[in-house]
Amino acid sequence: MRTSQFPLNTIKETPADAEVVSHKLMLRAGLIRKLAAGLYTWLPLGLRVLRKVENIIREEMDRSGALEVLMPAVQPGELWQESGRWDMFGPELCRFKDRHERDFCLGPTHEEIITDLVRSEIKSYKQLPVNYYQIQTKFRDEIRPRFGVMRAREFLMKDAYSFHLNQESLQETYDRMYETYSRIFKRLGLRFRAVLADTGAIGGSMSHEFHVLAESGEDAIAFSDQSDYAANVELAEALAPAEARQPASRPMEKVATPGKTSIAEVAEFLNVPPEKILKAIAVMIAKRDLDREWEEFCLLLLRGDHELNEVKVGKILGKFRFATDDEIEQHMGCRAGYIGPIQITGAKGVINMVADRAVPAMSDFVCGANEKGFHLVGVNWDRDQPTPLHVHDIRKVQEGDPSPDGKGNLHIARGIEVGHIFQLGTKYSEAMHATVLNEEGKNQVLIMGCYGIGVSRVVAAAIEQNHDERGIIWPEALAPFQVALTPINMHTSERLREVAEHLYNALLSEGIDVLFDDRKIRPGVMFADLELIGIPHRVVVSERLLESNQAEYKGRQDGEAIQIPLEEVVPFLR
Ligand code: ATP
Ligand code: MG
Ligand code: MG
Ligand code: MG
Repeated sequence: MRTSQFPLNTIKETPADAEVVSHKLMLRAGLIRKLAAGLYTWLPLGLRVLRKVENIIREEMDRSGALEVLMPAVQPGELWQESGRWDMFGPELCRFKDRHERDFCLGPTHEEIITDLVRSEIKSYKQLPVNYYQIQTKFRDEIRPRFGVMRAREFLMKDAYSFHLNQESLQETYDRMYETYSRIFKRLGLRFRAVLADTGAIGGSMSHEFHVLAESGEDAIAFSDQSDYAANVELAEALAPAEARQPASRPMEKVATPGKTSIAEVAEFLNVPPEKILKAIAVMIAKRDLDREWEEFCLLLLRGDHELNEVKVGKILGKFRFATDDEIEQHMGCRAGYIGPIQITGAKGVINMVADRAVPAMSDFVCGANEKGFHLVGVNWDRDQPTPLHVHDIRKVQEGDPSPDGKGNLHIARGIEVGHIFQLGTKYSEAMHATVLNEEGKNQVLIMGCYGIGVSRVVAAAIEQNHDERGIIWPEALAPFQVALTPINMHTSERLREVAEHLYNALLSEGIDVLFDDRKIRPGVMFADLELIGIPHRVVVSERLLESNQAEYKGRQDGEAIQIPLEEVVPFLR
């Protein structure tokens, strides 16, 4: 490609509204342009990178035996009604009506659509297991789109969904996906870690996130220095051994006093009105819809609420279960559904809590226990008589804490979530009646897994991890071009032009992706551009170098250029 035909859309100024380096560099290097909040156009240079990511993902998914499909971005509301998510999803789901007044939405994810497909296409256990994937545009009306394509509203995702007759088969595919993701991120040349992720409310299910390590990451991850243990910090916190959880040894800037605490105190600490906490918790229990993903819950709870970041119930101890109605009745004299601890995250911090006495009531209360015993949890919805909460833990996991597996100490690093694999179980297949005939000829509900990669986010994450003050440093696998060929003042020397053209063709015929900078501009400007856009290898030819039959080579990260004989340029780069 020649820059005369492939214009570089580089800009010198740092864009004012870009906060993180990848966003700044993607704009400055001319990879993307903003259309509106969270909506971006990929320019030719950026699209080359995006396609490289996509191709590696596609190759590895194909290798794993997954089957590519392409589902619509627009989804009928009916299916979301059926799964129960139409009401649960909250404002991240962009809903609209067609001309016939039918409900539709822009797909933020495709569980409903694939489950609908599979229930009509897959009839027998003999067709299982199956793993369908697509690389497709998603829309999530993120509350705070930011960091360019890192947290966009419209973005490209690889999503895969597998269907199984039994848990062993799901585990097998899950493990294969884990390996496939590891191969993908390795091939992309990124430093990454797979970490245990929060599985939310569904006991026994399994989930891992893949994080690209970068200082600017929005997530904190904890990993052991002596074992394979790695988890997102929330989970590490939940599983940390008791001695690491002593609040006394963990000073916080200001905490509600561990021990008995009123909702008012919790509210003050989190800096939100008490009604919001009460309401959030009450909504959860009122819905009694506790087998849904926590994220959906939280989205629902946060609707219209900008101070309370998250309210989670039941995840703190990692393992917990739902009580049977009988157990609850026996202990509480009522039949409410939920047992487990509560975690509330506000702008100022996290509070984990259980209340310390039974509160006999139905939908007005949260009540619960964890598997260590039946700790009844109550949050009184009656504002005049708040039930005491027992705040048992207010802290963050810290560098050097003992690892939950007892092996070594934890290190904390920041990461960008680029992939997420999840064992869904029968959540969607049950709600949507996706069954097959098993070996005994009986209908059996399918077991499901899902596996996502943020394709467009990977591009931004790669830049967060690989850049310097001059611009992007692409890992080889992602570079839009491998080599930049930069003749100096070619327009005044016919001899130099011939040499440059010859070299360009020779590189092309070797299958090397080369960008020939044939612009009539000063060498300094040319070099700055090529460094900004991050091309890994640069070859300079000039009149002066021709005199000794040399070219000059510089790797993007090299301190000094070296001279190599002209005829060795191609073999050197091959
Ligand atoms: P996050 O925690 O960053 O909001 P998520 O957990 O909501 O992500 P998933 O539902 O797990 O996202 O989706 C699979 C992948 O899609 C994520 O791992 C991430 O890489 C990517 N992704 C999610 N939301 C966005 C977004 N707004 N912009 C770009 N990529 C995204
Ligand atoms: Mg999200
Ligand atoms: Mg996430
Ligand atoms: Mg996720």
